[in-house]
Amino acid sequence: LGRVPVAVRLRATWFSGKMRPMEYRVAQLEALGRFLDEKKQDILEATAADMGRVRGGLGTGGPHAEFTEILLCKNELHETLNNLSRWMKDKHVDKNLVTQLDSAFIRKDPYGVVLIIAPWNYPIYIILVPLIGAIAAGNCVIVKPSEMTKNSERLVAEALPSYLDNDCFAVVTAGVQETTRLLENKFDYIFFTGSPSVGRIVMAAAAKHLTPVTLELGGKNPCYVSDTCDVQNVARRVAWGRFYNAGQTCIAPEYVLCSVEMREKLLPALHKAITDFYGPKPQESPDFGRMVGDKHFQRVQTLLRSGRAVIGGQTDEKDRYIAPTVLVDVQPSDPIMQEEIFGPVLPIVTVANVDEAIDFINSRERPLVVYAFSSDDKVVNQVLERTSSGGFCGNDTLMHVTLTSLPFGGIGNSGMGMQHGKFTFDTFTHHRGCLHRGMGREALIALRYPPYSQQKLGL
Ligand code: NAD
Repeated sequence: LGRVPVAVRLRATWFSGKMRPMEYRVAQLEALGRFLDEKKQDILEATAADMGRVRGGLGTGGPHAEFTEILLCKNELHETLNNLSRWMKDKHVDKNLVTQLDSAFIRKDPYGVVLIIAPWNYPIYIILVPLIGAIAAGNCVIVKPSEMTKNSERLVAEALPSYLDNDCFAVVTAGVQETTRLLENKFDYIFFTGSPSVGRIVMAAAAKHLTPVTLELGGKNPCYVSDTCDVQNVARRVAWGRFYNAGQTCIAPEYVLCSVEMREKLLPALHKAITDFYGPKPQESPDFGRMVGDKHFQRVQTLLRSGRAVIGGQTDEKDRYIAPTVLVDVQPSDPIMQEEIFGPVLPIVTVANVDEAIDFINSRERPLVVYAFSSDDKVVNQVLERTSSGGFCGNDTLMHVTLTSLPFGGIGNSGMGMQHGKFTFDTFTHHRGCLHRGMGREALIALRYPPYSQQKLGL
């Protein structure tokens, strides 16, 4: 790991074992808590400036920035601090006849020096959640925030190191070129959150050193709506999940699958939900965000050429504004159904029934989450049982992410590995199988040494 000076420093600390005692880890985690409390206003202002989450009215950063960037991180922190001593303990395991008097246990070892690479869409939350687990597990950590969200990147680079022990922790600010060089170093674990295409690059770089990886990636999350459900409730829950953070959420419902009859009921209900949430002019709503940058604005604007906008469809390049939009007449082969939209656009694709919806889902890459809405539990369970995805949520959107008791992660094209609560701790922990024997009982043990004879083996 010698090429980046900061990595040399962290490697030296790793060998010193400074981060191993529980008291040390707890002190660092408590310092993260102070960072969230004391820098709350700065975090809300930075994310607001980066993501356009507020334009006056509801307090800087807006309520949803406070929920995702502060409260969800605190939730992880509390869960970790409350359980760390239990999680860290050796786990004693079953023994066989010849090891009955010995000690067999799983030691929860840190990996060493780990690298966390984050995307821009929740620029504090997506850094802090793995960071909490990496510190809790006793690792030295290098964090690489996204260069897309400059205000949050600066805040993380300038403020976070003043709370944490810089012998064990560092922030590296880097664009693509510098990250490529960073990845030439040997790390003991890499935790990457971002797109599947960059995930492949990170995994290839990790493979050169046989470094294990977690890849938290994106994709297209389907949302099946059956004919039997409370349409207005469904519309509110789907619209909330799709348009939260202007659609730039990895677990947002990317498209709706439903019958033609349901589509006709859903459209006015979605229109009502969007108007209730953001008013008749969403561009003026303090609760509706903006595209993160010009490139992303143009990309999503181009995708709007697919199908026909029956709700929204307006754009304003100067403001990086794309209205909450619902598209119909979308073909499965349209560009909008090929790539992750990652913007406030919801296509509705019609299917004849639940079987066709399941076939549609299964004929594509495995998503990060599958959503299914129905007042008939059998239908929800049918979708759960016959599809495969990182996670699943029945009759709501996004809410599964709030439970630290659930593993969060992808499968196939949406990633590998898990995080949240103990799952993050376990991700950054090497489960070291240990047998500690006594020095006596040699006469018994001697049976296994050569030379072997029938008499020795008692045959
Ligand atoms: P991205 O893959 O473009 O970038 C992620 C990180 O990788 C950034 O820090 C960036 O600097 C770095 N990077 C970019 N190109 C690189 C390269 N060639 N070599 C090395 N590093 C490189 O992703 P993004 O646009 O920042 O984020 C959006 C994506 O992230 C979406 O696909 C979304 O679904 C996904 N995402 C997934 C989760 C999850 O938990 N599964 C959460 C949030 C976002």
